[in-house]
Amino acid sequence: MKLKGSCHCGAVAFALDSHTPQPYMRCYCSICRKTAGGGGYAINIMGEAAGLKVRGEKYVAVYRARIKEGRAKRPSLSEARRHFCSKCGSALWLWDPSWPEWVYPFASAIDTPLPKPREEVEIMLDYAVPWAEVPKGRGHSHFREYPKESIAGWHKKRGLDVA
Ligand SMILES: [Zn+2]
Repeated sequence: MKLKGSCHCGAVAFALDSHTPQPYMRCYCSICRKTAGGGGYAINIMGEAAGLKVRGEKYVAVYRARIKEGRAKRPSLSEARRHFCSKCGSALWLWDPSWPEWVYPFASAIDTPLPKPREEVEIMLDYAVPWAEVPKGRGHSHFREYPKESIAGWHKKRGLDVA
């Protein structure tokens, strides 16, 4: 499936292929909340880095957060590169050299109509703020940090991966 996305001011537009377009995973971590998540979370989907095309590349800025990993005493620079528009601040996509073949666009930046997921996964709930609405009940799975199931695995198991 071809996905097109853009920032709000239009300086940046991008396109990529995705086999895993369901916007089913809400991340409540502090980085997602502060940089992209007005509702206390952000939703990332996954696509192929190889075919990523970007217009307005000179307006794309990159943020690498400082985070404390595990038992580390000091924060270190996160490998994840959060790409955003330097003119309007829209969060665009995340890319991490640990998984170079994938790119993780923010669902909020995608203009192509995405499927509405029948199930949702809420992750990084250890870091959620008290005011954030975390949906509960049928069709919702909650995780304190990252789930073991990958985005690709989640789609495959439900027969939702697309060509
Ligand atoms: Zn912009």
